[in-house]
Amino acid sequence: MARVRAVRIPELRTAPGVHARAGSVEELARFLADHRRIVVLTGAGCSTGSGIPAYRDESGRWRRRQPIFYQDFLADQVMRRRYWARSFFGWKVMQRAAPGPTHSALATLAGLGRVSGLVTQNVDGLHQRAGHAEVIELHGGLDRVLCLDCGLGSTRDELQQRLEFLNPDWAPEVLGINPDGDAELDDKAYPGFRIAGCSDCGGTLKPDVVFFGESVPRSRLAAADRTVESADAMLIVGTSLVVWSGYRLARLAAQRGIPLAAVNNGLTRADGMLEFKLEGDCGTVLGQALSTFSSQGSSDQP
Ligand SMILES: [Zn+2]
Repeated sequence: MARVRAVRIPELRTAPGVHARAGSVEELARFLADHRRIVVLTGAGCSTGSGIPAYRDESGRWRRRQPIFYQDFLADQVMRRRYWARSFFGWKVMQRAAPGPTHSALATLAGLGRVSGLVTQNVDGLHQRAGHAEVIELHGGLDRVLCLDCGLGSTRDELQQRLEFLNPDWAPEVLGINPDGDAELDDKAYPGFRIAGCSDCGGTLKPDVVFFGESVPRSRLAAADRTVESADAMLIVGTSLVVWSGYRLARLAAQRGIPLAAVNNGLTRADGMLEFKLEGDCGTVLGQALSTFSSQGSSDQP
């Protein structure tokens, strides 16, 4: 029976002719100096320097083939096999990825006492590895696995070992890597892959990430909202904010009347709400702003 899919990959929608004002590095440095409770909201553009490709191009268009949908993952063992087969290779890329200049710059900014919270749409864990102690992972993290039947949590590393044990000679050609720990494989390769069940109850395992068609847990949304509600400014880095769960935080910040600035290579859905935006490589721009911030000395420090 053909399945009718109600979920669509969201497209970037901006009001015609609405563009954020182009800011300067000096303006961004002043923004960082003037605020002490900045909530940072990040996306895939932070991790492109770490060898993890972005989901979307500069105009916000979806770059890759169809991702997996939550309902399909639940309903269809063939889809689960496909997911884990691709993840088997995608996870190896994630394990090797190191924090890049953007992660480092944001960790430095936090060390300067400017950041009151960091909310990321990324599932790669690289902000934490760069030294951020508390990160709200809006869409979860690939480093964890959940059993859908008994709720047991475990690590992705542990599952990888079990998958390697189950598939010692499985070596299809990898055609490409996607940003969420997903590799492109020849479709003919999947049936040869053996998946693992929960080590406790044998139930269905799912990565602890929010799939398309799945909701962000309420408690996590509430934690992100609190971070925005206690902030005095928002800095958006490396995201076009196409996905609602990220965009709504920018909207919440705008509704509160706190200033929003962005560093992003291309359009964002929040362009109409921004005080200013800097285009270009996020790590380079943030590094320049931090240098300017530091060279202005500590005269504005208490
Ligand atoms: Zn279980």
